[in-house]
Amino acid sequence: MRTAIIGAGIGGLTAALLLNKQGHQVSIYEKENYLGGRLTFESNGEYRIDQGPTIVLLPELLIDILEEAGVSKDKLHLIPCDPLYDIHYADGTIYRKWRDDKRQQEEIEKTFPGESFGYKRYMHQMKKVYDFGTDAFLSKIFINKRDFLSLQNIKFVLSSQSYQYVSNYLSTFFKDQRLKHGYALQTLYIGGAPHQVPALYGLISYSEHAYGIWYLKGGYASLVPILESICKIRGIKIYREHPVDQIVIDSKTETVTGITVKGDFKPFYYVVFNGDYPTIDYLLPEKYQMKKRLTPSSGCVLVYLGVTERYSESLTHQFFLSEDFDHFMKQVVNGEAIPSDPSCYVFNPVAIDPDAAPEGKSVLYMLIPVPASINPSEEELNKLVDSQIDRIEKKSFKGLRQAIEWQSIRTPREAELDGLYLGGSFGVAPNMAQSGGFRPQIIHSKINGLFAVGASVHPGGGVPIVMQGARLLAQYFKEEGKKTC
Ligand SMILES: Cc1cc2nc3c(=O)[nH]c(=O)nc-3n(C[C@H](O)[C@H](O)[C@H](O)COP(=O)(O)OP(=O)(O)OC[C@H]3O[C@@H](n4cnc5c(N)ncnc54)[C@H](O)[C@@H]3O)c2cc1C
Repeated sequence: MRTAIIGAGIGGLTAALLLNKQGHQVSIYEKENYLGGRLTFESNGEYRIDQGPTIVLLPELLIDILEEAGVSKDKLHLIPCDPLYDIHYADGTIYRKWRDDKRQQEEIEKTFPGESFGYKRYMHQMKKVYDFGTDAFLSKIFINKRDFLSLQNIKFVLSSQSYQYVSNYLSTFFKDQRLKHGYALQTLYIGGAPHQVPALYGLISYSEHAYGIWYLKGGYASLVPILESICKIRGIKIYREHPVDQIVIDSKTETVTGITVKGDFKPFYYVVFNGDYPTIDYLLPEKYQMKKRLTPSSGCVLVYLGVTERYSESLTHQFFLSEDFDHFMKQVVNGEAIPSDPSCYVFNPVAIDPDAAPEGKSVLYMLIPVPASINPSEEELNKLVDSQIDRIEKKSFKGLRQAIEWQSIRTPREAELDGLYLGGSFGVAPNMAQSGGFRPQIIHSKINGLFAVGASVHPGGGVPIVMQGARLLAQYFKEEGKKTC
């Protein structure tokens, strides 16, 4: 079976390995001269830092899928982050998250007296949501919406109240607004906001405590060369700088016949699209293009810094929240301008990996969520970046400004140029109307032989979840694939 994969993101690479194991003759076409898509590095001279993903969640899922794909877990050096991270509130309070449950409860009692019972209830309830959600949603393909809206699913979602928005749901467990924000901010990981994302996604904040936050030695993007080397050993062909411009379809049978790359036709039985899903429209004849316009996730301004200070004492992951976090999140998903008082996340890998920067130095990455649509002037951008550098310098990184040797900035417009739909960083928004059975699916509903994996496709964004999508595709082929060469 000749199978083409369009895009060498983590979804495309994982799908390639899994399908190759089933006997597919896989060729990957990547438009850029590097592999990994969002999972890549930003570098300058002696400095190098992850460009996108930094937080490794659900390590068991990641390892299971890699092993299924033929990548031994010995190839990965995962290091636990404990403490998980610090949250710096505008009023000066710092809330530290830990892996250990008892320690977490003590921390809550110290910082938010009287709230640890709510935390215990939250963890207990979210375990049920997590267990149900992994089985009913993460492990299923929804060929039709009826499968998603099954009686069993509806019953569970109603009884657990996980249909509520994250922000309302958290109010049933926590009184202190700051603590609620501490368990709502994870919606940012998937580019959504607590007032628009169903509480089912609360399984992310649950999973941080239950399965930990991990760091991949060398940076998350060092996963890519590992997968690439296995692809090579297994005879998977990888074509860099090969943008696919068309998915070719036999209109009588509505079946894929191949792709074109810079105008050259290449025949394939199956095609798997791994670009950001809504951009598949550029490759399809008009009659197959999407009727409804999807909403992108939030965007972000990313700031990469190479500095002459060593910040080993500051934590690897830290969040700095706005005075009014709810208002900020509304500005991010509903607004069209740079938020007035932004929150930001900072990644400081030398705290866990001394080799992440040259001796005596550090590399930092600041992620500032913004509306995907912004197109700031240089002046606006500099003002935003400067304000956040001042803030993190004051709260956690002493002497930062003086120590900056290298700075690089990416905005949603650069992300859009790289192929992310309307500049959204995390795939289409994870709101009610674009989740589960309502998200674009792995199997194309009209075109035979056309499939998709990636952050905008069910089950959604985040490295292990995208890999799980690739696994669902491979399972589908195993059970249903009937075509042969
Ligand atoms: C700033 C940022 C921070 C993040 N942080 C985390 C995190 O901490 N933890 C986590 O788990 N996840 C995180 N994520 C999400 C994670 O990066 C993504 O969910 C995941 O990497 C998406 O993988 P993908 O397979 O959808 O492909 P992508 O990474 O989108 O790659 C798609 C590939 O397809 C190629 N392509 C597109 N169109 C064509 C074409 N026509 N022809 C050929 N090639 C094409 C592209 O060039 C690209 O290489 C983050 C994302 C961002 C942007």
